[in-house]
Amino acid sequence: MVLSDKFGRPITDLRISITDRCNYKCVYCRTGNEGALYGELPFADYLRMARVLVGLGIRKLRITGGEPLLRPGVVDFVRELAKLQTTDFEPLDIAITTNGHLLAELAEPLKRAGLTRATVSMDAVDPERFAHITRVPSGFDNVLAGIRAARRSGLWPVKVNCVLMRGFNEDQIIPFGMFAREEGVIVRFIEFMPLEEGRTWSPATVVNLDEVLHRMSEYRPLVEIPHARSETARRYRFDDGIGEIGIIAPVSHPFCGHCSRIRITSDGKIRTCLFSVWDHDLHGVMRRGASDEDMADFIRGVVERKEERHHIGEPDFVPASRTMVHIGG
Ligand code: SAM
Repeated sequence: MVLSDKFGRPITDLRISITDRCNYKCVYCRTGNEGALYGELPFADYLRMARVLVGLGIRKLRITGGEPLLRPGVVDFVRELAKLQTTDFEPLDIAITTNGHLLAELAEPLKRAGLTRATVSMDAVDPERFAHITRVPSGFDNVLAGIRAARRSGLWPVKVNCVLMRGFNEDQIIPFGMFAREEGVIVRFIEFMPLEEGRTWSPATVVNLDEVLHRMSEYRPLVEIPHARSETARRYRFDDGIGEIGIIAPVSHPFCGHCSRIRITSDGKIRTCLFSVWDHDLHGVMRRGASDEDMADFIRGVVERKEERHHIGEPDFVPASRTMVHIGG
């Protein structure tokens, strides 16, 4: 039976963090002083977890981190994942979320190994602003080269994710609209969530969906295009048909009711919500000698108890027990 939680949401989407390390220290994510906090597992362990989960109905698998491209062996890991089939004997949809710093050299090998799609995080199209946000001098050229290499290699679609934080990059909205049109990528703006190490979030720091739409329409009119229910982004095309943008609005327009995701952290814990206050030690179960069926039972029990929704901005909000970089976004 396909995995589902007690609210009847089918769980078809898995994100695996393969490292807690990151080579960027983005201001909205990191304090700049903390390094990795959690360990990483041999690829064979992630692979076994993935195999069991795909057997339970996972159709999409996203590799993330930390920064996943820091991990030597990631191409071979994708090659092994690509051998898995969904319960309908379809190929698994394998994506990656990366800061793109090392993507220029890896895009082609990843595509050949079986990667389907790539999402590159990039929070400014202005190189100086980019350096200010990432706290890494001259990374912009690498990331741009990575995005272009991803497109050339046939990874499709290439999405560029931009987290907007007031006072840092809301003036980049229109330049990103131009970038989407010029580079042939889908730019997706993400509302800033309270998942940062430094606890700097407040409602006032969030640049919301309405504001993005308003600003972008000063550049060119947008036409909304239909999106699948479980899709996180609302999608828009420019009126002349050239260029697509998306807006992921978990704060102003939560989509928890359609959430189909679970995550595995770099140290092998299952998280059923970004805002979970606990995680579930799947690797511990494995280490104690569990069979695949025991692992599947454990996973079913954990997924049953997936949280109904997040409580961002509500008086009873309790911060997640890990921040975004240590979960895997
Ligand atoms: N290093 C990879 C990258 O940069 O894409 C993967 C990990 S990163 C934590 C995953 C995504 O989470 C990035 O797109 C990042 O911008 C986003 N992110 C980090 N902190 C966030 C926050 N507080 N709110 C919304 N998105 C956040």
